Amino acid sequence: MRNDWALALDIGMTPEIEARYASLSVPRYTSYPTAPHFSGEIGPEIARGWLSEIPSGEPVSLYLHVPYCRAICHYCGCHTWASLRDGPIEKYAASLTREIELVADIIGTRQPVSHIHWGGGTPSLLPRHSLLSVVAEIGVRFDVLPAAEHAMELDPRTVTPELAATLGEAGITRASLGVQDFDVTVQQAIGRIQPVETVEAAVKALVGAGIEAINFDLMYGLPHQTADGVRATVRQAVALGPHRIALFGYAHVPWFKVHQRLIDEKALPGTMARLELEAVAREALIEAGYQAIGLDHFARADDSLAIAASAQALARNFQGYTTDAAKTLIGLGASSIGRLPSGYVQNIQDVGGWSAAIDSGHLATAKGKQLSLDDRLRGAIIERLMCDFTVDTGAVCRSFGVKQSALSGCMLALDALVADGLAEVADCRVSVTDAGRPLVRVVAAAFDAYLARPNARHSVAV
Ligand code: SF4
Repeated sequence: MRNDWALALDIGMTPEIEARYASLSVPRYTSYPTAPHFSGEIGPEIARGWLSEIPSGEPVSLYLHVPYCRAICHYCGCHTWASLRDGPIEKYAASLTREIELVADIIGTRQPVSHIHWGGGTPSLLPRHSLLSVVAEIGVRFDVLPAAEHAMELDPRTVTPELAATLGEAGITRASLGVQDFDVTVQQAIGRIQPVETVEAAVKALVGAGIEAINFDLMYGLPHQTADGVRATVRQAVALGPHRIALFGYAHVPWFKVHQRLIDEKALPGTMARLELEAVAREALIEAGYQAIGLDHFARADDSLAIAASAQALARNFQGYTTDAAKTLIGLGASSIGRLPSGYVQNIQDVGGWSAAIDSGHLATAKGKQLSLDDRLRGAIIERLMCDFTVDTGAVCRSFGVKQSALSGCMLALDALVADGLAEVADCRVSVTDAGRPLVRVVAAAFDAYLARPNARHSVAV
């Protein structure tokens, strides 16, 4: 039995239309404007001014990036480096502590924090004393709210009972484990051997240390994946009881991530096979009782993400779908991106350049984007489409004090998507059809004023 979406794809669009849209290159819209449109005109002095504009007493979120792994997986799309030694990672943590001090000094108050997220890379590679000292510095310079979520991305292969205990001591409340696929042929092809027993032991250790909110990342579109294999992976993953599962499409961008050339392109599924793999995984997750959320997330009904989705209170940021309602996100660490009251800022990507700036007492901002009123308007519409699959563009325009005519070009662009069965437009309300849901990025792109500009190259829509 196939799920409703797959069925809707079958009856709603011809395979030619599905394939045409699914192979389009469009952003994932974890921000708008997207990172390729950030400019070097935004530097440390501007970022300093934007940080000082954060309203006192308004909760903010922190994102800490740790760009180290023990080895680089062939499919990796993250900004990370391989390090077998702890020395560089300890040094990095010391700079991270200095960046926290620097940013807090500029803000000038002990700002409340509602959400902390560690990403990477593999942030759990931080030695115990380094991790605890960074967390202690956050506690000194910020007012971490009692209900704050404190999440960390983890490589299950690195999780031991000792590490889990340290994470519990550091106050981690949610752990996100990279699982991807349990099939050994797929694991060999992506350079990441990780039996189900390894993930099971990691979950057991984390739960034993009091970290009960567990997320898994699964992936479709990997080399040698089959429908049966993906179905089996979902069953094995679900049996371990994660609260949330993110199902990401592998983005093959070897021109950008050179190590992806290690992946045999001949073994990659084509566009229609990717659609089927996604549908198979989706069906298995829904059958197992998970609620589909947004484009690519699934959660148990009692998980905060499912509760936020039911209340149309879901948000989208650089980590994907989130319950985090803070308007300000402070990015810390090399390459991290922040969202400040006036716009986006991104730190220097290479660790040497980032730490040199921070260690000399300067912000490490390399680029960013000041948000215009038009950017904010389109960003709000795109976020609602990505989260809720429907948006009242008239209401959003009114909330920004902008006439609906500002969107006239978008409404014209939507005509083709309506004709092809991806979207419906009724007055000012734009909705993604059931058949169009896997292609929601294409509908969101109708509101993207930057897409035709030359400096962006994105992954395919599905
Ligand atoms: S562990 Fe994660 S971040 Fe590190 S190389 Fe593998 S996929 Fe990338």
